[in-house]
Amino acid sequence: MHPAPFAYRVAHTIEEALELLRTHEDAKILAGGQSLVPALKLRLTSPAMLIDISRIPGLGGISRENGTLHIGATATHRQVEKSAVVQEATPVLAAIGHHVADVQVRHRGTFGGSLVHADPAADWPAGALAADATMVIAGPDGKREVHSSEFFTGMLTTVVGPGEMLVEVRLPANGTPGVYRKHANAASGFAVVGVAATATQHDGHVGHVTIGVTGATGTAFRATAAEKSLEGAAIEPGALDHAASLAAEGLDCLSDIHAPAAYRQNLVKVLVRRALSDLLHV
Ligand SMILES: Cc1cc2nc3c(=O)[nH]c(=O)nc-3n(C[C@H](O)[C@H](O)[C@H](O)COP(=O)(O)OP(=O)(O)OC[C@H]3O[C@@H](n4cnc5c(N)ncnc54)[C@H](O)[C@@H]3O)c2cc1C
Repeated sequence: MHPAPFAYRVAHTIEEALELLRTHEDAKILAGGQSLVPALKLRLTSPAMLIDISRIPGLGGISRENGTLHIGATATHRQVEKSAVVQEATPVLAAIGHHVADVQVRHRGTFGGSLVHADPAADWPAGALAADATMVIAGPDGKREVHSSEFFTGMLTTVVGPGEMLVEVRLPANGTPGVYRKHANAASGFAVVGVAATATQHDGHVGHVTIGVTGATGTAFRATAAEKSLEGAAIEPGALDHAASLAAEGLDCLSDIHAPAAYRQNLVKVLVRRALSDLLHV
């Protein structure tokens, strides 16, 4: 199908993009187009104007300063995947990069676009949650920061409001070991369930643990009960089994042609256990 007609504007600065959003009520941001263009072609959305932010200088930069990793909203999946700075600063994100789509899509799609799109089966949300990311959102009243645990509000929904755009993601650049375990849909490659986890350890005991889960429910989430159960626990198989069970407990999982809810719930348990085994070596 062909998209409905729309106007197309290239923004050269964040301010210009915000001004276009302010003056055109039915406008949408276009970043890499890897989710929006298919949606336009299927006429799932028909905005009157697309505001292309992919050419705003500096908006896709990746840098590390004073213990913080900064990833600009239009950094492509491939740039994040291949960044030596990301690999050193935030291993859990580095572990996710090659799981996102295929190489062609990774060269066009953006890190920020994936987070704002908030597809329940997308990979980066699990990583952003596990890496304790903070999203920087620009709007008519300036910039605001929102922690990743409050950023995703539902299926395809985030706190980014009309007239706002995501400009940057900030992450602690502490080099904490991190892994990503994903059960991919065989046809699309999207996550049926994906689990990103980080952990520190000291003298045979677990230190700080984070677990981000995608694919299982309508929105990605932190498995906080599992995290809490592990903090300070002795590293032994029983503790990891218990944490994995807690991660899956009480979930209201999605059920669709790809997997029934019970299957997804079991996948959460299995993949959390595997991720923790990878990290803690038991
Ligand atoms: C064949 C194929 C396979 C894929 N497989 C996977 C996969 O395995 N895993 C996975 O996670 N994803 C997958 N994707 C999705 C893909 O990675 C998209 O790139 C991503 O979801 C959206 O990023 P984008 O830059 O392309 O955003 P766009 O498509 O340009 O925009 C998506 C939405 O986000 C909004 N938006 C974008 N950037 C901003 C911003 N900075 N501020 C405010 N709003 C913004 C747009 O208005 C739009 O509503 C796949 C896509 C394709 C085509």
